[in-house]
Amino acid sequence: MQSYEKLLLENKAWAAEMKSDDPDFFKKLSELQTPEFLWIGCSDSRVPANQITGTTPGEIFVHRNVANLVVNTDVNLLAVLDYAVTILKVRHVIVCGHYGCGGIKAAETKKDFKPVLNMWLRNIKDVIRHHKKELEGFTDPEERSDRLVELNVQEQVYNLAKTTIIQRAWKREQRPHLHGWVYGLKDGLIKPVFEMKAGTPIDSIYEYDNL
Ligand SMILES: [Zn+2]
Repeated sequence: MQSYEKLLLENKAWAAEMKSDDPDFFKKLSELQTPEFLWIGCSDSRVPANQITGTTPGEIFVHRNVANLVVNTDVNLLAVLDYAVTILKVRHVIVCGHYGCGGIKAAETKKDFKPVLNMWLRNIKDVIRHHKKELEGFTDPEERSDRLVELNVQEQVYNLAKTTIIQRAWKREQRPHLHGWVYGLKDGLIKPVFEMKAGTPIDSIYEYDNL
């Protein structure tokens, strides 16, 4: 059997199991999705949003990219954010990074990863520059990298708050709350590291009128 054929076989078994637990499971999900959460996570195969949070299909709207970045010119991310916040009306947006992130580690080096990856990793290099002073205080490279993972999550949460999508929802409906979490590959545990409740003041240069 080819490796991908095993996936299709496992899918049949999973669907049957879900159906035996709740015969209406797929019928209900096919008619409506009302997730309470938007998850912006890393594409890393070891950090699956549903599994590590014990949630099932229908509970979390998901966007993933390398190193869980919120880039203000990323149409893909902004479309997901707008749909989740404005249409689905999620109550919480979670940016979840993870210790040992390859994207974060790559951005710490001077290696040329060629145009497309360089463009993406540049966003993390900017986080490093913003927090240079704190990061230079670490002597252990792994501890420094772990802290950068946390600071990156913090900056991406802040990037969410800079968007009109979030500011409009905050002004009109006092939601969603923004959360920055970091997942530990070594223990499977999620650590909350940063939070912005709906309406949290941000630097005024990022605020918009007439929302
Ligand atoms: Zn990663």
